[in-house]
Amino acid sequence: MKEGLIWDLFFPIRCPVCLDVTISKKRGICEQCIPYLQYIEEPRCKKCGKKIMQEEMEYCYDCTKYSRSFEEGISLLDYSLPWVKRVMAQIKYQNHRQYLDILCREFYQKYEKKIEQWDCEVMLPVPIHNSRRRKRGFNQAEEIAWRLGEMWKIPVDCSCLKRVKKTLPQKELSSRERINNLKGAFVAQKQSYKKVLLVDDIFTTGSTAEICTRALKAIGVEQVYILTLAIGRGTS
Ligand SMILES: [Zn+2]
Ligand SMILES: [Zn+2]
Repeated sequence: MKEGLIWDLFFPIRCPVCLDVTISKKRGICEQCIPYLQYIEEPRCKKCGKKIMQEEMEYCYDCTKYSRSFEEGISLLDYSLPWVKRVMAQIKYQNHRQYLDILCREFYQKYEKKIEQWDCEVMLPVPIHNSRRRKRGFNQAEEIAWRLGEMWKIPVDCSCLKRVKKTLPQKELSSRERINNLKGAFVAQKQSYKKVLLVDDIFTTGSTAEICTRALKAIGVEQVYILTLAIGRGTS
């Protein structure tokens, strides 16, 4: 017990919502922060998994407008919420990977059955360019895949997809510009996978997921499912 106390002193568990030290060690999220989680619930887009505002719609605006080569996507967090934006940036740019332990556990609890039903052979994290990786020291998509892969006992392959082109930051670009920006950015190494789970941190317009799916289908992958931790609300 004593060792546990010392550990807690140096590595206290911080809640991803308020970033304060939490006493709720088991879940890692304070009791009073639970109402702010607002995980993605139904109705959601049948293609990308994004929350949709009108119940009668099957697909979100982006999925009706842009081509989607992947089968289906799922995500946990609503990227339009301020706490989600903040924690995702903290993970990526300030190396606060400990939040991934909490958020991946939440993901697993919510979607245990769903991912089992998809029955993918392998998880493929979306790669980042080598220069970015050197600067950051890690790839957040791999970090997510390792944690979730262990929970579902799905192997993680970090070398099948390669990022061969450094691209402009996507933030300021429209969906169509993003697709053009990403053209030729990824290549897939020949593998015998038929059904794969592509893993990334954030899904916004879906252009990265689309370009990676095309690269994978070009080497004979038949079905591509998308798993992201956070998803935007889209253009409409
Ligand atoms: Zn909190
Ligand atoms: Zn959609």
